[in-house]
Amino acid sequence: MDKLNPPDETVLQVVVPRPLPAPLDYLPPADGLQPPAPGQRIRVPLGRSRCLGLIVGTRTRSAHPQPLKRALALIDPEPVLDARQLELGRWLTRYYHHAPGEAYLALLPPTLRHDREATGTAPAPYWRATATGRALAEQPDALPRAPRQRELLHQLAASPPGVAGPMLRARHGGGYLAVLRRLVAAELAEPCAPPTVHTPEMSRETPAPTLTDEQTAAVEALQATLGRFQPTLLEGVTGSGKTEVYLQLARRVLAAGGQVLILVPEIALTPQLLERFRQRLGVAVAALHSGTPAGERQRWWQAAAAGRVAVIVGTRSAVLTPLARPGLIIVDEEHDGAYKQQDGLRYHARDVAVWRARQLGVPVVLGSATPSLESLHNATRGRYAHLHLTARPTPHPPPALRLVDVRALPLTDGLSPPLLQAIDRHLAAAGQILLFQNRRGYAPILRCHACGWTAGCEHCDARLTLHRGTSERLICHHCTRRYAPPTACPACAATPLDMIGFGTARLEETLADCFPQARIARLDRDSTRRAGTLAQLLTAARQGEIDILIGTQMLAKGHDFPRVTLAGVIDADHGLFGADFRAGERMGQLIVQVAGRAGRAASAGEVLIQTHHPTHPLLQTLLAGGYPGFAAALLAEREAACWPPFSHLALLRAEASRPAQALAFLTAAAEVLPSAPTAQLLGPVPAPMERRQGRYRAQLLVQSTRREVLQRLLHRWLPGVRALPTAGRVRWSVDVEPQDLL
Ligand SMILES: [Zn+2]
Ligand SMILES: [Zn+2]
Repeated sequence: MDKLNPPDETVLQVVVPRPLPAPLDYLPPADGLQPPAPGQRIRVPLGRSRCLGLIVGTRTRSAHPQPLKRALALIDPEPVLDARQLELGRWLTRYYHHAPGEAYLALLPPTLRHDREATGTAPAPYWRATATGRALAEQPDALPRAPRQRELLHQLAASPPGVAGPMLRARHGGGYLAVLRRLVAAELAEPCAPPTVHTPEMSRETPAPTLTDEQTAAVEALQATLGRFQPTLLEGVTGSGKTEVYLQLARRVLAAGGQVLILVPEIALTPQLLERFRQRLGVAVAALHSGTPAGERQRWWQAAAAGRVAVIVGTRSAVLTPLARPGLIIVDEEHDGAYKQQDGLRYHARDVAVWRARQLGVPVVLGSATPSLESLHNATRGRYAHLHLTARPTPHPPPALRLVDVRALPLTDGLSPPLLQAIDRHLAAAGQILLFQNRRGYAPILRCHACGWTAGCEHCDARLTLHRGTSERLICHHCTRRYAPPTACPACAATPLDMIGFGTARLEETLADCFPQARIARLDRDSTRRAGTLAQLLTAARQGEIDILIGTQMLAKGHDFPRVTLAGVIDADHGLFGADFRAGERMGQLIVQVAGRAGRAASAGEVLIQTHHPTHPLLQTLLAGGYPGFAAALLAEREAACWPPFSHLALLRAEASRPAQALAFLTAAAEVLPSAPTAQLLGPVPAPMERRQGRYRAQLLVQSTRREVLQRLLHRWLPGVRALPTAGRVRWSVDVEPQDLL
């Protein structure tokens, strides 16, 4: 053995993009041109083929009993990941109990996950406003006959270093090039070099607004944490100006030569945030999200790793961006569910952000009007500092919530007389109205009145939603399959079938009937499918070109709609009796976030919440105590029931094509669980939606009041689960700290 693998030769530990539980051992390439180093990409033989690998460690002698294969060649001359990134990869692998190949490769931009040399890719074209263009943009009556040109020019003028073509496309749709060409022809816009380096000439900071006393106090408290690890929960009521606090703090970090990483739940929903950072900080801002073109993503990633870009704004996966000069990490809307990856490497970007801040020795700010119970609990226990912004800088406090007991009221397609009257009143006063209904489509249920049959999906345990448009369709929101609606009941042949419940599309139709003079728009996944429509809708809403905006939870994403005076929640009852232990928390957050859109500028706001359960303790607590009182009550409930954050969870999920297979696998898994007196097993049980996309699903929950106990148990248990004879016949996964038990 030692003859085959000489003890003095270095052995490379290499991860490959396969679901293997550990790195593989290889001997260095035969060419011997360069000693391989951890963090380098390498081409290795695997089975009968070859693939990309990443060296994550080296050792001098292999524990492997077999002779080792030799790696083929190094792909790049230099490591692509530094020691800190490799440490992050190791932590992701261990904490989330995930295949190391996938965990480490998640740290690379997608373009580097292939077996090709890392070359600089051609930069995306950048555009900026000319001096004439900037001057014109400042005039209120600029380009009166060309609203699209005006809008595009405003965007360019707001960002002196230039705007990338793909960003323009994201906001204005595919037609942006034609509009841009007209601006260039008129010498109002011009192409420019991509701004990757922060140069003083580029700095043109816009002056900051005056801060409130609370904002000043928060900035000072946070400034005192610069240069060391300190997590802070910044709890600020909606509209209290958290972004202004981020900006002031970011300026100080930039002045000291540091980099700032800002995470947001969804960039498409908050394009104004990105522009505000560009404009106010006067530097190039890297935008990393799913819409960023692959080449540009790699360019920003390399610039961040080299310290050539100072501000990085991105969604979930941006938390893995390498930073050469780390100074500050911000997680905006930290309660948002979008931070949790729901497949593959199931990481939570907020938790990774806190881990990285500790690793890098920098402060991390978690901001929200409706903090997660986890973060509140950490603040209560003193693990996080806790800062409050209780007032808005505008003349009006966040509006009070009012319940509308709809039980005895005649409803017009789900709308009560008090809500309809309020809409009428606010329309007459030229206010803007926001209505929230968390159901898209026309009607959530199609039912036979004669026999009770309802339309269900053939592949899922779920009802089909009726969608109307150019044609009627029944759509499964879980597997996206489409069906033609039956003309008569398939069970008893009765006609017609009843449409039960109200989706956003049906409410839009009803509102158009009730308020024919109003300009009504809908904001949901269906209405924003076409590129550019979302940005157009948001701009139109901000500029007051829409009177009534009806939408799903996309409405609750931190938008600043200065003209909204009335916010309405059509049905608050969804979350009251949800199957998931987080249902109540999510409902409260949604209501407070939707309500928070009202009364942000000059006029006071009003909020109406329709419910069939006006005396429900959760709703009453929300009304009486606002979000802080509501969260305190939920935390007491969680503590009594020993749910997170008072315990830690891991969910083992399995699915198989035959009914009992997944459950049988989990039963076998439960049997090999090592005994641990301080951990509890719940299940296995069929998943709440047992059949989905034609597969049968089951789950097994492991719970412990101590994180270390749970982690140790998983490390001892999972090798045994992998070794089960049935492990290869079902699809299974581990979810550490799952957000969703459905
Ligand atoms: Zn029937
Ligand atoms: Zn389905």
